[in-house]
Amino acid sequence: TIRTRFAPSPTGYLHVGGARTALFSWLYARKHGGRFVLRIEDTDLERSTAESVQAILDGMSWLGLDYDEGPFYQTQRFDRYKEIIQQLLDQGDAYYCYCSKDELEEMREQQRANKEKPRYDGRCRKLTEPKPGVEPVIRFKNPTTGSVIVRDMIRGNVEFKNAELDDLIIARPDGTPTYNLTVVVDDMDMQMTHVIRGDDHLNNSPRQINIFKALGAEPPKFAHVPMILGDDGARLSKRHGAVGVMSYRDQGYLPEALLNYLVRLGWSHGDQEIFSIQEMIELFDIEDVNKAASSFNTEKLLWLNQQYIKNSTPTHIADHLAWHMQQHNVDISVGPSLEKIAVLYQERAKTLVEMAESSLFFYNKVSSFDEKAAKKNLNQASLPLLQNMQSRLSALSEWLAEPIHTEIKACADMHEVGMGKVAQPIRVAITGNTVSPSLDVTLELLGRERTLAAIEFAID
Ligand code: GLU
Repeated sequence: TIRTRFAPSPTGYLHVGGARTALFSWLYARKHGGRFVLRIEDTDLERSTAESVQAILDGMSWLGLDYDEGPFYQTQRFDRYKEIIQQLLDQGDAYYCYCSKDELEEMREQQRANKEKPRYDGRCRKLTEPKPGVEPVIRFKNPTTGSVIVRDMIRGNVEFKNAELDDLIIARPDGTPTYNLTVVVDDMDMQMTHVIRGDDHLNNSPRQINIFKALGAEPPKFAHVPMILGDDGARLSKRHGAVGVMSYRDQGYLPEALLNYLVRLGWSHGDQEIFSIQEMIELFDIEDVNKAASSFNTEKLLWLNQQYIKNSTPTHIADHLAWHMQQHNVDISVGPSLEKIAVLYQERAKTLVEMAESSLFFYNKVSSFDEKAAKKNLNQASLPLLQNMQSRLSALSEWLAEPIHTEIKACADMHEVGMGKVAQPIRVAITGNTVSPSLDVTLELLGRERTLAAIEFAID
């Protein structure tokens, strides 16, 4: 079976670039009926934080990228890494290196002077005795001849000459293992068949393949996903604005819209723009991902979000809207259900933040009016209209949009004014401002009691 993984280092929030890599890896497993594993690479104790682990787990769960195994934590596997390091030492595939910083610097300077690429020259390979007083690192004995071919599903074969790969440090002076060692041990033990990750790791792959071979293990297939750029062509980062997945939730995006946006970054299927998760699973193939980097386009993401808001079921929108309403400390039980709010705003709102903010008046009593709106609409001229509407609405037998509409119309006709002259003052009374969806439907949802109370308050 196909086994893929997402292996983030918990040193910040879950970045949209990381989320896209996770999505590709997840899709690949789901498409092939394989298993998707989450592994937290937290061996860098200084930079890893518990909050960041939580941010990754939250991001994965918000996006719906479920994993079949894990999360595994590398910090819980130190014994296993020690064992493998010892095995490599015993086999003669690793050795202690006692070179000091100064010595290494001097070596590199000489190489630069000779116009060679600076690299560790393997001088400690030949040492037979430990050097007293120095805590050594352990290096992997990389083959010195031949080459390694990384068979990359996106870029094709990429060849590296062994002579250009130096002997990697696999254990630090304190004995802790380094990234290139832990990742191989885990990918081997967790039986990964496909490693899908950012292309910043492409140069690590030949080194990792050599370690796999030294351990007698079959290396996985690789796919190095090109990076995401900001609108200025530089790698997408904080400077470009929000890059954390959860900040997209905060800004009112639906997770499916973000996933749809991410899958289309560097991948396409004809000119189709909208993909359900099921379609993504069916149609996506890692081999079709573009080699070139792609740029993040917030406008396009916003457009997709709007499409998803329009076309999702009210229940689904309500589920996500609930979180936004909570951010406003709103008591939903005093107003209409969030499904009804979703229906009312689906065609109008681009984000759930917009939807939440514009529907707050359904749950919170208006206690002050926008000054301009009040001046224009709550005045001597509108007073008789509001009073007339008060009595019409109190007498209405059925509190439904249609009869409400009829009363607004009747009031306007009676006073020989346009319907807007009746509607706007009521809008200001119930929302504090001049915008709301169609007034009859809005009043139906707001309910008779609260409508009348709001008009009463506005008249006072
Ligand atoms: N932990 C690495 C990172 O976050 C990823 C390692 C990998 O996917 O092999 O960059």
